[in-house]
Amino acid sequence: MIVKEGRSVFKGVAIGRIFVYRRVQKAVSREQIEDTAAELQRYEAAKGKALEQLKGLYEKALREIGQEEAMIFDVHQMLLDDPDFNDSVHDIIENERMNAEYAVFMTCEQLAATFLNMDDEYMRGRAADVKDISGRVISILNGTQMSPEAMPEPVIILAEDLAPSETVQFDKSRLLSIVTQKGSANSHTAILARTMNIPSLVMTDIEPDLAYHGRKAIVDGFAGLIYIDPDEETMAKMIEKKGRTDAQRALLQEMKGKETVTKDGKHIRLYSNIGSVQDVDAVLENDSEGIGLFRSEFLYLGCDDYPGEELQFEAYRTVLSRMGGRKVIIRTLDIGADKQIDYFDLPKEENPALGFRAIRICLTREDVFRTQLRALLRASVYGTLGIMFPMIISVKEIIRIRKIVEEVRLGLERENIPVGDFELGIMIETPAAAIISDQLAPLVDFFSIGSNDLTQYTLAIDRQNPSLDAFFDPHHEAVLRLIQLTCENAHRHGAWCGICGELGADMELTAKFIQMGIDELSVSPGCTLELRKRIREC
Ligand code: PEP
Ligand code: MG
Repeated sequence: MIVKEGRSVFKGVAIGRIFVYRRVQKAVSREQIEDTAAELQRYEAAKGKALEQLKGLYEKALREIGQEEAMIFDVHQMLLDDPDFNDSVHDIIENERMNAEYAVFMTCEQLAATFLNMDDEYMRGRAADVKDISGRVISILNGTQMSPEAMPEPVIILAEDLAPSETVQFDKSRLLSIVTQKGSANSHTAILARTMNIPSLVMTDIEPDLAYHGRKAIVDGFAGLIYIDPDEETMAKMIEKKGRTDAQRALLQEMKGKETVTKDGKHIRLYSNIGSVQDVDAVLENDSEGIGLFRSEFLYLGCDDYPGEELQFEAYRTVLSRMGGRKVIIRTLDIGADKQIDYFDLPKEENPALGFRAIRICLTREDVFRTQLRALLRASVYGTLGIMFPMIISVKEIIRIRKIVEEVRLGLERENIPVGDFELGIMIETPAAAIISDQLAPLVDFFSIGSNDLTQYTLAIDRQNPSLDAFFDPHHEAVLRLIQLTCENAHRHGAWCGICGELGADMELTAKFIQMGIDELSVSPGCTLELRKRIREC
């Protein structure tokens, strides 16, 4: 049995097999082969697996986004079954005696070039699809398949590190746990693990060696340990520990349907944070009263190109409809810093956390901002919407945002497209915003405190840097005073004030937040019932 230590970012016990995640290698090997029949078989098996995955992706997109967006996976299946494509792969394997990866790669290059030379714009666009399906087959062939969907059962992901854009690609129903060699407890990947409710470790003393692939393991998110090839005694102990955790979770089920009120009758709005349409399942399962933060950038991170108005509209509409009138606060695009998206083609920066991110990008790339706002405003008729803007530092920004929102609204009105009511709010996650919150509050309906960034910027500690985790103290008096000040200023000017950063789930501070007058706490769906219990004890 091998035991390795890491830093836990979510408590719980996961038992399953390891999936070693490696970034897809771009280079394709070119090898002469002897046994062409075996190579053909290898290709056919990989193709079958790819078709199966595409079918799954089609169904997932149909369920979560909509028919139009799902169609692309249907097109991919047809392309992969296309006789010209397959004849070419077979020909290269059989007659040139080349390995399957190379055969797929060469076929892809030739076919993509043919598409690119066509006059019809739609057909030119198919070149990207051919590359996409070929990349999928090659990654299955050379074992760099990036998706744990390739595993027959849910897995424990073992990786060197994961970027948020990689984490969002995983099918959450296939994940038991995430264990990374690097990473920080305050990173977005850690936040995603908490949202998914899975025990996870970062900064683990382990190499993501392929030798671990497929081996049995246990992740103990209480002790911050991973056991590989656990012995019988450990397995029995951990099964018991998992049983106890499951029983505690089951006990919390009695909190469902209960009001989130303190002993003296103050109601606290208990909302959830989500990163995708799929997360609404967990929100409803945990009887959350609303969504206090939908990190819309994860929608962008999951796409290869700018998500259009329709795709976004469908996603927002689905979330609002499924929440059936309960409040849904959608945060506009917050990329930059650790959330990098290739197609934005942003310049490299010395200090990304202090750089071009969030609202700064939106106010510079107004086309991108207006597309998102149009989708949001159109979706507003399907539920109770709040729109929230990240990384605000000035009055000037809010005035400009309000003007753009109004122009978008008028534009839709001119097109006879209905727009419902919605609230406008801002995130308080810079000391600047907290300090001038008296000036900002009259301009908005609500504040939502982003304690992750507020801590980072108040203490001047990069939340991404694991070697500073020991100094990263969200309980620091300076952070708590800024929260208090923000809350007081909100109330003085008729706005409500919530917390959507990770601190909102910190039960050591629940009583303090209630004393401060915080109106709303928005936390990972899995923390909802426990927090409700805590609030009812206050
Ligand atoms: C925060 O900064 O606290 C927050 C909620 O936003 P994010 O973690 O996405 O930066
Ligand atoms: Mg933030």
